[in-house]
Amino acid sequence: MQPVRVLVTRRWPEAVERALGERFDVVLNEADRPLTEADLSAAMGTFDVIAPTVSDRLPAAIFAPGNRCRLIANYGVGYDHIDIAAAKAAGIAVTNTPGVLTDATADLALTLMLMAARRAGEGERELRGGQWTGWRPTHLIGSALKGKVLGVVGFGRIGQATAARAHHGFGMTIAYFARSPRPEAAALGAHFCADLDSLLAMSDFVSLHVPGGGETANLIDAAAIATMKPGSYLINTARGQVVDHDALAQALRSGHLAGAGLDVYPHEPQVPAALLDLENVVLLPHLGSATEETRVAMGNRALANIEAFAKGADLPDRVA
Ligand code: NAP
Repeated sequence: MQPVRVLVTRRWPEAVERALGERFDVVLNEADRPLTEADLSAAMGTFDVIAPTVSDRLPAAIFAPGNRCRLIANYGVGYDHIDIAAAKAAGIAVTNTPGVLTDATADLALTLMLMAARRAGEGERELRGGQWTGWRPTHLIGSALKGKVLGVVGFGRIGQATAARAHHGFGMTIAYFARSPRPEAAALGAHFCADLDSLLAMSDFVSLHVPGGGETANLIDAAAIATMKPGSYLINTARGQVVDHDALAQALRSGHLAGAGLDVYPHEPQVPAALLDLENVVLLPHLGSATEETRVAMGNRALANIEAFAKGADLPDRVA
């Protein structure tokens, strides 16, 4: 039997690249440059498995009939960069890496909340720019988290982990918007909102945790932002396409929103220009899962799916 040929589209932590290389015929992207759609199309014809990341685009055109590739083993939990319907139609399985990045991403949502509320980015820029004139009672006054309402949009793994940190660690009251009430909410005393507008109107902080894709595109549009409580904060570690960034920039400029914290953008690595000059938005470069422990665990999870595929077994994290 021919060895299973695997293309890994970006560098993974060395330990998992090595483990993959010991089991399969693996091609690594030594230069770590992003692959083009043409590169990926060509690879579909010569590899059994492609292991992409969120920085790759796999539209319907990639899934032409008659290709060798039978598995897309995504390195990451979100898969809105892959046309799932087209993969399914072409009989190509898709897997992801759920669960192992929940804690790291929830930690980053809290990082953004604290940075935005306590004006940490502004303070650091001021200090490094030599503008700091010393302690004074009115300097860079922010907002406390304790006693405030955190509205969680999408109450899955990361949404719940963020809510647990905010509630148990910072004394926040939790409300959430989901398509149906979740039993896990009881342990946090979390209030279910059946409609997004009521959640937005009651929350001091809103944190987004829905998947990307057509259903959630522009979920937080100009009308939704107008519904948010004056002086509140928006945190996004989900996907950039969920937010209308022009409307967000306008609300940050007018002071309707006190601040925002973003980890994701609609056309990464571009960052909407309207945000770059604003002091009251924290901008991080998609760091949600970026811990050594998590990135190794993500690689191991992708590896487990590729191993199951090679054995003809059920795929543990199949999404299509
Ligand atoms: P998850 O457990 O599947 O949670 C997503 C939740 O969103 C589910 O509870 C789902 O509810 C809900 N949902 C889906 N569509 C919705 C809609 N239209 N309205 C309201 N709720 C909706 O996924 P997760 O592991 O928490 O990950 C969430 C997302 O975070 C990922 O898809 C990814 O895009 C993003 N992420 C970002 C980073 C980063 O580096 N910044 C890292 C990891 C993940 P149902 O049960 O009703 O479907």
